[in-house]
Amino acid sequence: MKRKRGGAPDPAKLSLNTATTRAQWGLAEAIEGCARHGIRGISPWRDQLAAMGVKKAARAIKAHDLAVTGLCRGGMFPASTAAGRRKAIEDNLRAIDEAHALGARCLVLVVGGLPKGSKDIASAREQVRDGIRAMLPHAKAADMPLAIEPLHPMYAADRACINTMAQALDLCDALDPRKSGALGVVVDVYHVWWDPQLEAQIRRAGRKRLLAYHICDWLVPTTDLLFDRGMMGDGVIDLKLIRSWMEGAGYTGAHEVEIFSANNWWKRDPNGVLSTMKQRHQRYS
Ligand code: ZN
Repeated sequence: MKRKRGGAPDPAKLSLNTATTRAQWGLAEAIEGCARHGIRGISPWRDQLAAMGVKKAARAIKAHDLAVTGLCRGGMFPASTAAGRRKAIEDNLRAIDEAHALGARCLVLVVGGLPKGSKDIASAREQVRDGIRAMLPHAKAADMPLAIEPLHPMYAADRACINTMAQALDLCDALDPRKSGALGVVVDVYHVWWDPQLEAQIRRAGRKRLLAYHICDWLVPTTDLLFDRGMMGDGVIDLKLIRSWMEGAGYTGAHEVEIFSANNWWKRDPNGVLSTMKQRHQRYS
């Protein structure tokens, strides 16, 4: 097994996922913040995008010449009724349009867990497959790649029943066997760092299916399942090793920092968070 670690990453690849500063900043401030700190990429969340307005956001992002490394997020397909599933698909079609308006590199899909009252995870996974299949034609027409984000299995019930890279890539192979570029994956280290198959699955994904790369760190101990992600360098993830796998597989895209941190980073001065992010990206990522 190759264990080559590269040098410091290209600072131009750093991107801010706005979840990282969501407690302190709205989208307009996050855009300004990126511009001020020389961070060249941004990945907005749709609630913040709605609050700012899509047109206004697109203009501000363009004015600062930021790359939109993804739009978070579509997905959440499973529902207990056919009407509920249709509603989810309609919302996903709108998400494609929003991503297109921003010139995003992909629409991130957090696929959803079990419908309320259900214990049938196999059926939830089928609903995910059907949902993505239903939105693919619109995504292709808009030239907007869909990026499935496998989530750590601790979220299988309530957020995403796609939990490993292998599972996400099987779905890609089923729905887009020709690797058209319309469907791929997000590698978020928080969710997949532990997977013994990670290196092999990154290689399997290859350049065409590796659409985004989310970084942060896994803290020991982790005190909250959702809101206790660490800054790069503060935990146990070998980020340089995983980046070497990504690059080895042909990934040339951004390194997007996504940190949900209710008790630490969300309580800090956001300008300090961005400065730390830049330093830690260079040092540990
Ligand atoms: Zn992520």
